[in-house]
Amino acid sequence: MYDSFLKKVISVNNNSIETRLAEAKEELTGVRSFPDPEFVSIIKELGFKCELCARCCTKEFNDHVFLLDADLAVILEIDPDAPIPAPYYEFCDQKGRFYVSGYALKTKPDGSCIFLENNRCKIYGSRPLICRVYPYMLHREADETGRVDWRQISGLNEHGSYHCDLSDSECESIARETKAYEEAYIRQIIGFLEAVDAHFTKNGLKHVQRTYDRRMRDFLKGGCELEVFVYREGGFEKHLLRPKAD
Ligand code: SF4
Repeated sequence: MYDSFLKKVISVNNNSIETRLAEAKEELTGVRSFPDPEFVSIIKELGFKCELCARCCTKEFNDHVFLLDADLAVILEIDPDAPIPAPYYEFCDQKGRFYVSGYALKTKPDGSCIFLENNRCKIYGSRPLICRVYPYMLHREADETGRVDWRQISGLNEHGSYHCDLSDSECESIARETKAYEEAYIRQIIGFLEAVDAHFTKNGLKHVQRTYDRRMRDFLKGGCELEVFVYREGGFEKHLLRPKAD
């Protein structure tokens, strides 16, 4: 478990805050300028239709449901215990305090979303934005060869049915909502990186990977609590995470 966790965070943490900020800003410009007609025609050609399998509402399929600040406000109204600090904390300062860009939805012991019941979403009308746009996406990712390209669909051919007939207006609306989601997501990441940068500069802190690894190893072995600062609306909320009992 620890190895797979670390693999994910190391790829995130290898770059400095400045580099990550520059990359996020570049990504934002890229998303904004991605040609709408191209995205619309990809959506149309794919013709994805949800078959209500609910696989995308499980940890096994989708890892976690990240909450934008706007989602968090809605979810807290429904169930104040549903949000948890999102996994894969991005930074750890020399005092062993972790920082992460937002919250995620809690899952049940079987890995399904806390709001999934009998394969249906209990809060469908109020579900988070990522659940509304999934499986569409618009972000740059490296493939197995390291070549970075735009990724538009998640879980291709692993769920739902394809080549269904979607109207032009439906495809345009999906493209618009997906783009708006991706923009909002990147803006939250930029806000988080700027807040960490300002906090570290003001308090003489820095990210220390060795401290990150040591604290995380101890935590996962059940040996210590973790202090996690979660980004929300320009500031941080402090959480004390207790190690899980085996
Ligand atoms: S909030 Fe609803 S749609 Fe989103 S993952 Fe949970 S059950 Fe699925």
